[in-house]
Amino acid sequence: MSTVPVNVEEKLFQNRYRVDAGRPHIRIKDADVCLSECSAKSCTFVCPASCYKAEGNGAVTLITDGCLECGSCRILCTDHQNIEWDYPRGGHGILFKFG
Ligand code: SF4
Ligand code: SF4
Repeated sequence: MSTVPVNVEEKLFQNRYRVDAGRPHIRIKDADVCLSECSAKSCTFVCPASCYKAEGNGAVTLITDGCLECGSCRILCTDHQNIEWDYPRGGHGILFKFG
């Protein structure tokens, strides 16, 4: 039986996302904790939508556009409890209807 390779970027492109402008549903509570207390910066590796970005100076930025609401970032940040996580308001966020 032959297998067909899956291209994750292509699959993600099938999704649609409705941005709730100015009201991100996930927030880093204290940027200084990311900068000086978290060496692993797991959120920057685990997020399938690349919402978290490690900056050269050790800071971490978060842009929630495209978030798949998987919850991985919240689970991995339990050591520091530095993520405030909620679902987007109704009518916003990811739409999984196009794949
Ligand atoms: S895992 Fe948590 S504390 Fe560490 S960089 Fe990410 S948000 Fe910051
Ligand atoms: S919930 Fe999942 S997709 Fe959304 S920011 Fe966290 S890790 Fe990324």
